[in-house]
Amino acid sequence: MTDALMETYARFDIAFERGEGAYLYTATGESYLDFASGIAVTSLGHGHPHLVRALQEQAARLWHVSNLFRIPEGERLAARLAERTFAERVFFCNSGVEAIEAGIKLVRKYHDATGNPKRWRIITCSQSFHGRTLTAIAASGNPKYMEGFSPAVPGFDHVAFNNMNELRNAITDETAAILVEPVQGEGGVRPADLEYLRAVRQVCDEYGLLLFFDEIQCGMGRSGKLFAHEWSGVTPDVMAVAKGIGSGFPLGACLATEKAAQGLTPGTHGTTFGGNPLAMAVGNAVLDVILEDGFLDAVDRTARDLWQRLQDLVRRYPQVIEEVRGAGLMLGLKCVVPNTDLMAALRKEHMLTVGAGDNVARLLPPLIIREAEVSDAMQRLERACRALAEG
Ligand SMILES: *Cc1c(COP(=O)(O)O)cnc(C)c1O
Repeated sequence: MTDALMETYARFDIAFERGEGAYLYTATGESYLDFASGIAVTSLGHGHPHLVRALQEQAARLWHVSNLFRIPEGERLAARLAERTFAERVFFCNSGVEAIEAGIKLVRKYHDATGNPKRWRIITCSQSFHGRTLTAIAASGNPKYMEGFSPAVPGFDHVAFNNMNELRNAITDETAAILVEPVQGEGGVRPADLEYLRAVRQVCDEYGLLLFFDEIQCGMGRSGKLFAHEWSGVTPDVMAVAKGIGSGFPLGACLATEKAAQGLTPGTHGTTFGGNPLAMAVGNAVLDVILEDGFLDAVDRTARDLWQRLQDLVRRYPQVIEEVRGAGLMLGLKCVVPNTDLMAALRKEHMLTVGAGDNVARLLPPLIIREAEVSDAMQRLERACRALAEG
């Protein structure tokens, strides 16, 4: 069959037909343990009955009306997010990069509206990832994603991650904000030091800059708290959220304080599809589950158990894996062998993972996994590591 799809992806030759919980099934009935979650997206696993029901009921009622009208489900989801976070205002969109774009526009508009239009540049970190639009690849600054797409969108200054000296030195009269992932995902599953996040907050306050967290991957419960920055005790002024918030339904959100969002008055930003009733029904259903009593505690407990057992695996197979890193159920195995070899050996064991920078294999299981899935994963990891060690 000639492939009519653009060749932007080097896909694995596997297609899934159905999913249930942490498992995916091919048309021929082969099952795979899904520790990829569609790149940290299907946070509540596949076919979650509460989400399926919410989407089906909404689908039978109303799909789309546009943002020319009030959308009560969206008002409710925004209020619930605001209640549980630093934020007072929410803008809904369809993807991560749109949440980043909304945040970048918010930052520039804030300084413009408060009499500092010359403040427009944003400091970002090396090895960061903020999405694939022209603006987002310039923000990330990864040469691999920018090659052939010159000229780069201006306005971004890059500093080393977790390095306060470089950050301080990069601040100028034109600096508007600092954009950081509390846990870097694509760059290699690297958590920010909690001390670093606190110091970044301080420097923002000192210079009147907005602090902008990208929690598209590490947010929505993946770290064991609703948002990863909660571990640091400091809050941002702006935050981009997506991936897990729809558990597979395309949904993104830009959250901000009322003060930071003051420039975004009617007509300054918009989206046709963002926040439509289908997405809002699913978003509310996802929150129902994540905010249930004990859900995040269970994520934290499961993550600590998995972490311990992965540490043990590293001790026994130092010729395959050199380190476990990450936070909660966002874990990276820094490989000694090429990460693609470990991921291929795991695929042979019918376990799915995701690659990341710095030769890391990412483990991004759905947040609903418990002891049984952790044990299953460890057996598959053990067999894959043994095969590579003997290979
Ligand atoms: C995935 C991701 C994005 C981009 O999200 P899209 O939905 O692919 O646009 C941005 N930032 C981080 C941290 C991500 O993990």
